[in-house]
Amino acid sequence: MRRILTMNRESNLRALASDGVFDVLVIGGGATGLGAALDAASRGYRTALIEAKDFAHATSSRSTKLVHGGVRYLAQGNIPLVREALRERAILLRNAPALVREVPFIVPLYHYLDAPFYFTGLKIYDLLAGRYGLSPTKLLGASKTLEHLPGAQPKGLVGGVLYSDCQFDDARMAVALARTAADQGAVVLNYMPALRFLREGGKSSGLGKLSGVVARDEESGREVEVRARAIINATGIFVDEIRTEDSPAAKPMLRWSRGSHLVFPRALLPMQSAIMVPKTDDGRVLFAIPWHNHVIVGTTDVEAERAVHDPVPTSVEAEFILAQLNRYLDSPLTVEDATASFAGLRPLIRQDANSTAGLSREHSVTVAASGLVTVAGGKWTTYRRMAEDAVDKAVEMAGLPAAPCRTAGIVLAAEPDTAAMVSADSTLAAPLHPNLPYIYADVVAAARQEMARTAEDVLARRTRSLFLDLAASSDCAAPVAAVLARELGKDADWAGQQQAALLALCAPLRAVLRPKTA
Ligand SMILES: Cc1cc2nc3c(=O)[nH]c(=O)nc-3n(C[C@H](O)[C@H](O)[C@H](O)COP(=O)(O)OP(=O)(O)OC[C@H]3O[C@@H](n4cnc5c(N)ncnc54)[C@H](O)[C@@H]3O)c2cc1C
Repeated sequence: MRRILTMNRESNLRALASDGVFDVLVIGGGATGLGAALDAASRGYRTALIEAKDFAHATSSRSTKLVHGGVRYLAQGNIPLVREALRERAILLRNAPALVREVPFIVPLYHYLDAPFYFTGLKIYDLLAGRYGLSPTKLLGASKTLEHLPGAQPKGLVGGVLYSDCQFDDARMAVALARTAADQGAVVLNYMPALRFLREGGKSSGLGKLSGVVARDEESGREVEVRARAIINATGIFVDEIRTEDSPAAKPMLRWSRGSHLVFPRALLPMQSAIMVPKTDDGRVLFAIPWHNHVIVGTTDVEAERAVHDPVPTSVEAEFILAQLNRYLDSPLTVEDATASFAGLRPLIRQDANSTAGLSREHSVTVAASGLVTVAGGKWTTYRRMAEDAVDKAVEMAGLPAAPCRTAGIVLAAEPDTAAMVSADSTLAAPLHPNLPYIYADVVAAARQEMARTAEDVLARRTRSLFLDLAASSDCAAPVAAVLARELGKDADWAGQQQAALLALCAPLRAVLRPKTA
């Protein structure tokens, strides 16, 4: 029988406060931190993870949702990075089959001379995958290309290059990682920011080896001391804040680049395959990828001044995305056709480069004098390798008994099955909204099994409503908050606050979808 893996915040909180000294404490519950918690727990180390907001609240829920070797890195000649990512792609397909799927991508061709260039390049991509390869790259004629991409600009179309890659649901993958880590014995907590460090001998900031952190339970306001032999800083775009808390003299290691996306209903872009635009005006690639009955189009690469929790696309970025996409469409789309917009910040390791587009996507693992292990950079596709490297370093630094990494062989927790809930209460079969592919049983499952604590957790990351349709998400915020309040034992005031918070989050994202007034 299939085991249902659930996470209970109250019991995890008790375990965090009373479990003595952990071997490994991970700060940050995005792809990297959750991967590190799963890695450490499955090697047999006593492991805890604390996340300031919700799992995958930051960059890890705002990706383009590709599990890929990165054709862009191939073009840059970064062969080792591509090979590693292609191997990780295969591991993810095997270990999370419900969340990762192969998708056909097409590069539409409007010049005969482009065909050999893109066909050869993508054949090399196949070759680099070796035994981890998917369906082979093919050259298509114009009419076959239009069969895959109805609505593509037929004028001047000479054909297309068809290749395969994978896509996934990033925030759901994060929840699957959290549940699997918990199943392996890790104590995982959301809404639990690390505030400051504890040091051996009670020494003050910047002096002495770390022995733990003081974290705050955001729901009660209570501070908790968590002791650990090794501490991994996996806070993504925020790693420099933690490094400075450890040592005020720490030199910043990150820059940030914003990547924005627009989301359209599939009815407006009824494509069977994804489109890969190989060269945008700023020399990048752009994707239009079918996802949950919608199509995600992105992304951009714009230097961001600082790390923020909820970045918002600008109207200039929205217009840029549309301009690049519309060149490939028979009937151009407008910003009003989009149902959602979202942006994420890339954590890029500082190098001597003039623009963020030239910076490395590879990861780095560093150890401070205090013993703090910081892991940063990389991409979702390679989270498992980043986690392995970070845990290896933490084990070495803390002198823990060595144990081999096991995560390549661990199948991630399956998606919750809501059928039993619906048969117990048929009202839970009601859809959240006619434009959203979710039912109220998903809200209940999110609260009971997946540690969802707010309406935003449910609508943005347990379901992906906010990433699909902002207006529909705003419309159902009140009933969703009411069902969640019932599940979590909260009152009507709490539900009202949840609705207000959700509407405030949606407002700037919806503003991007309005045409600019002259
Ligand atoms: C626009 C965009 C598109 C992308 N597309 C892809 C793609 O298609 N495929 C791919 O493979 N990769 C992609 N990436 C890269 C990938 O999303 C990131 O590399 C990955 O999500 C980073 O995960 P992380 O865990 O390191 O960081 P994050 O996801 O940012 O997680 C860090 C966490 O730390 C928490 N935190 C911060 N401070 C504290 C504290 N004091 N205490 C406790 N917790 C704290 C934060 O709340 C956050 O949840 C994309 C990135 C961007 C920006």
